[in-house]
Amino acid sequence: MNILAFGPNGSGKGTQGAIVKEKYGLDHIESGAIFREHIKGGTELGMKAKAFIESGDLVPDEITIPMVLETLAKSKEKGWLLDGFPRSLAQAEALDKALKESGMALDYVMEITLDREIAKERIMGRRLCANDNNHPNHIAFDAIKPVEKDGELVCRVCGGELSARADDQDEDAISKRHDIYYDETTGTMAAVNYFKNTDVEIIAVDGTKGIKEISEEILKQIS
Ligand code: AMP
Repeated sequence: MNILAFGPNGSGKGTQGAIVKEKYGLDHIESGAIFREHIKGGTELGMKAKAFIESGDLVPDEITIPMVLETLAKSKEKGWLLDGFPRSLAQAEALDKALKESGMALDYVMEITLDREIAKERIMGRRLCANDNNHPNHIAFDAIKPVEKDGELVCRVCGGELSARADDQDEDAISKRHDIYYDETTGTMAAVNYFKNTDVEIIAVDGTKGIKEISEEILKQIS
């Protein structure tokens, strides 16, 4: 099974993606996380991508598209849930073409809808676990609040060290990422609409609901 996950930064898309991936044994492919791994590892690709990511700009297509398509091809047998790509109409068209050429079918498009202001508040309070970036931790939500250990906040799931992404604490970077997401002309919403105009099944859920409620709704619609 192959699934595309859409939702603005802060909508809980990563958390829901991890639940769906687990349930169906899919590879969870997150373009942003692949870039962060490259940056951590000091690779050439990481060095090229770093400045774009820190400012909230898109990494150029000539770097991003081949990187994602190569990763997808490796998961052809297992199936995948792709998160963070496509982020533009051009990437949607490139993905559609590549899927057709490689004989991979797209089974579902999942869209978590959320108002821009709420998404922004959520981004600033989220924390990343050093052991697993899909362990949900957020300083403003009781259900997923980090726990305190020796005066430090640690991951509520595994006790791992927590950090905040630099681009999550920078209001200009958040605003740029959201400008790209909500843009219906050439941005991510244009990519969502591109797939809405195909015959792929769309699973649309309201991102203001709780994590459990949203995941139940998504899993109910995947048959
Ligand atoms: P994310 O973890 O999805 O918030 O992505 C973090 C950053 O990685 C984004 O703000 C972009 O700079 C870069 N990035 C992730 N996915 C893409 C993509 N599909 N196209 C271009 N840049 C991307």
